[in-house]
Amino acid sequence: MSKKILVETSARHIHVTQEDLETLFGKGFELSHKKDLSQPGQFATNERLDIVGPKKTLSGVSILGPVRPATQIEVSLTDARTLGIVAPIRESGDIKDSGACKLVGPCGEVELKEGVIAAKRHIHTTPEDAKELGVADKEIVSVEVNTNGRSVIFGDVVVRVSEKFSTAMHIDTDESNAAGCSGEVFGTIVKLMGKNV
Ligand SMILES: [Zn+2]
Repeated sequence: MSKKILVETSARHIHVTQEDLETLFGKGFELSHKKDLSQPGQFATNERLDIVGPKKTLSGVSILGPVRPATQIEVSLTDARTLGIVAPIRESGDIKDSGACKLVGPCGEVELKEGVIAAKRHIHTTPEDAKELGVADKEIVSVEVNTNGRSVIFGDVVVRVSEKFSTAMHIDTDESNAAGCSGEVFGTIVKLMGKNV
């Protein structure tokens, strides 16, 4: 039974509501489609925004489509430190009382009281692959990434199972750099003694 899983690195990015999109880019604006992402229906766009924090600004951060019910900014902990904000580690969509920032677009600005998170590392998988991998929805597992000279076992990886997913693990740029990931990387789900068993 193979337990190898594709590990993809998510760079900092922004999800927006249609309302915020129109404030930032103008009335009736729609996201452009640049490239499909691995998760079905998700896509990279040509639209970029500046994220303004109390300390610094991160310029030209990509928006991912489609639009969502809530605006959410996913940054690394290094980014959060640069911005001068605290980004809690959360699953996507769980933004209550998360970090604050200002988004600046070509036509306007949006002041957000919350919405900035560091994404909790996670695995997207289909019900069929979950069976093969021996994992269940919401289970917390560890994943070993065996890179040349920087092998890491990532704990606290949450599994999300849906027919709508394509099987892949997502980590951010801090995590990816910690493991020295480059090119196509695969991880292995491991069950540690006394933890995640
Ligand atoms: Zn993901």
